[in-house]
Amino acid sequence: MNGFAYLTPGDLAEALALLRQGDEASPLAGGQTLVPTMKQGLAAPETLIDLGGLAELAGLRVTPTHVEVGAMCPHAVVAADPEVRAACPALADLAGMIGDAQVRNRGTIGGSIANNDPAADYPAACLGLNAVIRTDRRDIDADDFFLSMFDTALEPGELIVSVAFPRCREAAYLKFRNPASRFALAGVFLARHEDGVRIAVTGAGTDGVFRWSEAEAALGREFTATALAGLAVPVEDMLGDLHAAADYRAHLVKVLTARALAAISQRA
Ligand SMILES: Cc1cc2nc3c(=O)[nH]c(=O)nc-3n(C[C@H](O)[C@H](O)[C@H](O)COP(=O)(O)OP(=O)(O)OC[C@H]3O[C@@H](n4cnc5c(N)ncnc54)[C@H](O)[C@@H]3O)c2cc1C
Repeated sequence: MNGFAYLTPGDLAEALALLRQGDEASPLAGGQTLVPTMKQGLAAPETLIDLGGLAELAGLRVTPTHVEVGAMCPHAVVAADPEVRAACPALADLAGMIGDAQVRNRGTIGGSIANNDPAADYPAACLGLNAVIRTDRRDIDADDFFLSMFDTALEPGELIVSVAFPRCREAAYLKFRNPASRFALAGVFLARHEDGVRIAVTGAGTDGVFRWSEAEAALGREFTATALAGLAVPVEDMLGDLHAAADYRAHLVKVLTARALAAISQRA
């Protein structure tokens, strides 16, 4: 690992000023991805700007319309928060399915979506719930945020401050884990909103998280398993690797969508 400077700004303005000082500065959240990447020599920032002291990025709040999660909020806090669970149980469930206890206590929503790992869970919640990603300079719709795997709409030096999830009528997240890493081989976030259905798929697509619009339209017309009959995600758009073949992932997407639908129906 290369040497680096470690800075601890006390507020957002100071963090942004430090980030602007050099191209080789990188924000540090829980370090769950960044530190291993540095250890492997795949990233070599000259300066790490620790976001841990920024009150603007901390905590979460639940309002009558939204669940807004601060960028530095660890997964374990979202999973355990009773107000989040009451407002959007699927979001709390998703946070509780990430990695293991250590990862959930250090990993943050800001780090997860900035990294946009193709198998990460939060990108599916953002797309499925039609979230808005709030940064130090603008609001970005989730539909415009995730560009392709490990690529987002964030500009250099731009910091995620929070993620605002609108409340929906009902939702469920189902995930088929890689038993070693616990990342998703496929994960499906199904949400029913007042104005339609959104289905976001993680872990399976060659370009990272995506919406399965054909199934969204079908379930928008008829919210039953029958509506899914005959539908399938294109195998050529699915990832195939040593963990799972593309056709297996395509199969998982359909099974998980049906199970998410069943989970919602059982709750009703
Ligand atoms: C063993 C293991 C298992 C895991 N399993 C899962 C899993 O099952 N599901 C899952 O979804 N994830 C999983 N993860 C990932 C984990 O959930 C973390 O969220 C992820 O690694 C990012 O870590 P972090 O939040 O500590 O961010 P960091 O590693 O500190 O940062 C990651 C990247 O985001 C940037 N960044 C951080 N915060 C901000 C911000 N506010 N604004 C702009 N850029 C920012 C950093 O500069 C860096 O480039 C796993 C990780 C490990 C190590």
